Amino acid sequence: MLSIKPKWKRGKGPPRWRTVDELIEQIQSYDPEADTDIVKLAYEFAEHAHEGQKRANGDPYFTHAVATAARLADIKLDTTTIAAALLHDVVEDTNCTYDELKKEFGKEIANLVINVSKLSSIKYRGLERYLENIRKVFIAMAQDIRVVLIKLSDRIHNLSTLSALRPEKQMRIAKESLEVYAPIANRLGIGEFKGEIEDLSFRYVYPDEFHKTQLMFQEHYPHAEKFLDKASKTIKHEFNKANIPIESVHGRKKHLYSLWKKLQRPELEGDITKIHDLVALRIIVPDITACYTALGFIHKLWKPLKGRIKDYIAQPKPNGYQSIHTTVFGPHGRIIEIQIRDKEMHELAEYGVAAHWHYSEFIKGNKSKTPPQKMYKWMKELTNWKKEFEHDKNYLETLKIDVFKNQIFVFTPDGDVVELPEDATPVDFAYRVHTDIGNKCTGAKVNDKIAPLDTPLKSGDVVEIIKDKNRKGPNPDWLSFVKTNSAQEHIRKAKKK
Ligand code: MN
Repeated sequence: MLSIKPKWKRGKGPPRWRTVDELIEQIQSYDPEADTDIVKLAYEFAEHAHEGQKRANGDPYFTHAVATAARLADIKLDTTTIAAALLHDVVEDTNCTYDELKKEFGKEIANLVINVSKLSSIKYRGLERYLENIRKVFIAMAQDIRVVLIKLSDRIHNLSTLSALRPEKQMRIAKESLEVYAPIANRLGIGEFKGEIEDLSFRYVYPDEFHKTQLMFQEHYPHAEKFLDKASKTIKHEFNKANIPIESVHGRKKHLYSLWKKLQRPELEGDITKIHDLVALRIIVPDITACYTALGFIHKLWKPLKGRIKDYIAQPKPNGYQSIHTTVFGPHGRIIEIQIRDKEMHELAEYGVAAHWHYSEFIKGNKSKTPPQKMYKWMKELTNWKKEFEHDKNYLETLKIDVFKNQIFVFTPDGDVVELPEDATPVDFAYRVHTDIGNKCTGAKVNDKIAPLDTPLKSGDVVEIIKDKNRKGPNPDWLSFVKTNSAQEHIRKAKKK
């Protein structure tokens, strides 16, 4: 039955391959009490379901499911999400049905899988329209952010195996990733995902610029790294001598895409030597007070550059990012950026919204589905995405809906999204799409099944209206159940005639 024998070791073979034992070991390293049985079950179920299927690059399809799950384990997600990630393509790409999943794994995991599939079914038809659709869906799905996290991880793996596809397809996927997925990862505060999505897409969307930037980076990086090493040793030594506690000191290199973006700033004139954060030193300290102590100490050690101190602790970035950044004349007068944060801020910067997941009362204990304060704040901020999408002036206008209260989003069979009030019916949907479709409507299919016209719709439903060309007008009885004003009006108007 299990024909794909794990023949790869970690670090060899397909990207992010894990045997089931490796995956479980990884999860237990951050959550010793995790229910790993469900992960094992999902792993074996998906392996069997995808048996015989291949990726475009020739790898067994199952490697994709594993990579998607492994990336989520990297950001320490819970076992429900990881199990759903392992299973995320089984409904779409194998014979397995929703009901089967529900029977095997319960409603929660089955729903995660089905919602990830729905997100994939949205078609990319021109950026403007697509963005509008994807935004609405992401917002609707924000009620369960885990769907978005699985989707992002799925996309990262697809990007890392993009070379096997046709150039047009590479371009489309990479562009979509850069324009839609990276801003979403940024919005969620998952710095690691954002950087990875951008760098993986960069080479396909702007190949020339990518190679130029890469060459430039390779030329300057080794030197910067050596220097970073020296500065890091000095810090450890000096802090130790002065008895100031630090958790860790490590370097970070700038992602290529963000380097390229920065080089385009007019004041830098494309000169990489004017970029001071090509590499940066991160100092992780125990708590907030220690952040400021460390800052003072660094400034005593090395002279700061004027106007380069940014206190994102007192004033966090819109996505919640917190840190103190300062740029100093380091050893031998070389300029270096230093970032200081405490452990919790660091987790948030790397894992963003996923870090909230560790406060697992949301998942396990709290059945009322009330998100913790932090999550809630974040979800509200989701509606303020203005920065990432400044080119779309109407965005806030179109978002004047109370996303988390009374709005649902359903799909047309073509993958367009239609927004409706809660408990809206197929008739409301029909009128929202087109008056004529409403007037000629005789029946409906919801998620491929015939459904009564007064069925209350739910977010994520796919609705198809069955029309009768010869129908003269709407049924006045519909007035008893429609929820939208426009449907009511049309029906009343027709009744008068
Ligand atoms: Mn997938």
